[in-house]
Amino acid sequence: MIIDLSFKDLYGKALEVQELFDSVEELTNQIRIETGLRCPPSCRECCRTRGDAIQVTITEFLPLSLKLWNEGRAELFLSTLETVLDDDSCILFESSPELSKEGGCTEYRYRPLLCRMFGFSGVMDKFGKVVPAICRLLKTNCPECVSKLLERISEGSRIPVFSEFSSRIQGVDPYMGTRTYSINVALRRALEYVGMRVDYTTKGFDRTA
Ligand code: SF4
Repeated sequence: MIIDLSFKDLYGKALEVQELFDSVEELTNQIRIETGLRCPPSCRECCRTRGDAIQVTITEFLPLSLKLWNEGRAELFLSTLETVLDDDSCILFESSPELSKEGGCTEYRYRPLLCRMFGFSGVMDKFGKVVPAICRLLKTNCPECVSKLLERISEGSRIPVFSEFSSRIQGVDPYMGTRTYSINVALRRALEYVGMRVDYTTKGFDRTA
């Protein structure tokens, strides 16, 4: 069933989130070009992490939830999510490089912040200085790329800082964008939230905006 979603606030929020995701992507792509720092082909070790160690907000899953409801796939995802435990791997994880060439995520374009920024991003130290946090496999795979990255940062290149982007997610929706859940729970709650809005809207009394 294709649903014509008419509620603008949700689309607005989803668009803002997707724009944030795209700006992280732009920054990381720039770093990849400048330093050669990139994940080894078909590596997906970080996606194998237990689901409760990947903490994300409901807001980060609004773009994907809208897409899945629009494509009529949301109910299938919800029934899969009913069967997983909190510490199970993310249900979007695809272990076969043949099936998912862009990393281990079947919904790569819609993956949350942490999944985008795990490889390399910045954290603020206690003096407010940006310190790069780099995946150990990336460090082993290309130490010279890491040296180049450090050099670029010292010359003023920008690296996406996790706390900055997560507070911008909070800004999109202070309630759903603040509390984090294990990745499967966050996806289920986002799908349920959008689903509830779909249900109310089709009945003509959506007042939750
Ligand atoms: S971030 Fe690290 S573990 Fe994840 S895909 Fe890249 S190299 Fe592999």
